[in-house]
Amino acid sequence: MDLSENPQDVEFRLEVRQFLATHMPAALRAKGFALQKPDKNDLVSWQRILFEKGWGAPAWSKEFGGTGWSVNQQLIFEEETFLNGGPRYVPQINMIGPVLQRFGTKAQQDRFLPRLIKLEDWWCQGYSEPGAGSDLTSLRTQARRDGDHYVVTGQKIWTSTAHWADWMFALVRTSNEGKAAAGISFLLIDMKSPGIRVNAIKGIDGAGTLAEVFLDEVRVPCENLVHEENQGWTVAKYLLGFERSGQAALGQCKFFLELLRMLANTPDGTGACMMQQQGFQQKFAEAEISVMAHEWTLLRMLSSTAAGPQFSMLKNCGALLQQQLSKLMLECSNTPTSGESKTKNGSQDIQLPDSAAIAKNYLDFRKVTIFAGTTEIQKNIIAKSLLGTPSN
Ligand SMILES: Cc1cc2nc3c(=O)[nH]c(=O)nc-3n(C[C@H](O)[C@H](O)[C@H](O)COP(=O)(O)OP(=O)(O)OC[C@H]3O[C@@H](n4cnc5c(N)ncnc54)[C@H](O)[C@@H]3O)c2cc1C
Repeated sequence: MDLSENPQDVEFRLEVRQFLATHMPAALRAKGFALQKPDKNDLVSWQRILFEKGWGAPAWSKEFGGTGWSVNQQLIFEEETFLNGGPRYVPQINMIGPVLQRFGTKAQQDRFLPRLIKLEDWWCQGYSEPGAGSDLTSLRTQARRDGDHYVVTGQKIWTSTAHWADWMFALVRTSNEGKAAAGISFLLIDMKSPGIRVNAIKGIDGAGTLAEVFLDEVRVPCENLVHEENQGWTVAKYLLGFERSGQAALGQCKFFLELLRMLANTPDGTGACMMQQQGFQQKFAEAEISVMAHEWTLLRMLSSTAAGPQFSMLKNCGALLQQQLSKLMLECSNTPTSGESKTKNGSQDIQLPDSAAIAKNYLDFRKVTIFAGTTEIQKNIIAKSLLGTPSN
């Protein structure tokens, strides 16, 4: 199997590299290498730059302003962006965007998509609830019909960036009849509606990007229903497919590997560096080989038409690798010079992260084995597929 890049992809990679070198704001790049999270302003500004270039939405069809990139091109863009210290695409673009294109009415598409691609509206995902995470169909937030409105009451939790959001796409229960999945509907909820309260939740790393959202008799116009009433589970699964397909996190893994290489080669006060230690060299080599193997697995899966639990395997592999690399960075964080160290990335000076940022990053990346389907849930999917157990 030949997995080398074709000439068009090589040319595309050079174009992306050139664009990033000239257009990515220096402050955004610096945050990436310093392992600091970009804030909303950083992300909106970057998205507008991508939009101006025509690169606002890689997974959208061209008709709606998407890039029309192949999957390989999407991977190349992601990898090059990460290696430049940049952020991944804001997830909502590749979540609610494709959903509205597939299931939205013309009015919903016209109203929301042009604003979404420029991030004039910030969206959050209201799926999880207390008691309904892995077992999402047991969600209890109720939406009762009242004339031309739904009246929504309940609670969502772990809603990323809800306190930044203008809109939430939410799963709500519109019927208690039949199977749990059969009574779910997909609603677009204006976060400025009366009856909505958002509480930030501090994460293990001290950051406050998670939130819980309380909905008390919130009136949502029926025109904000996506697809049909009680058919929301179909929409939810379609969206989850887009959410999970990005979870191989190859670009993130490659970035962590490069950052680790820089940290491990940075001398401490005595002139020694971690990379000189044989034990560390071996761990680094193992991690590097694992990243290469992950890349080959991803490319092999993308080039095959065989159906199977690919997303689950890639998600688990990528998640474990991100955690392994963030842990190895922790081993490099105790040198007296960490935080003051500069190095080169190509022609650019890079300020390396300090030990506090490395520790926060290590803690933050505990999340990757939880969100978008926990490791155990992915293993269940893999086992059911391989052992032939019927899925429920
Ligand atoms: C950083 C972060 C961001 C998030 N952002 C969002 C967001 O924006 N919107 C949103 O809706 N949600 C979001 N989530 C929530 C996320 O989707 C849930 O945390 C996830 O689905 C797990 O659900 P839970 O937390 O309720 O855990 P549970 O489902 O209660 O699981 C608890 C433990 O039990 C295990 N377990 C559960 N069921 C099984 C089973 N059948 N077999 C074996 N083991 C099992 C799980 O693997 C886990 O270890 C986010 C979570 C995190 C960590």
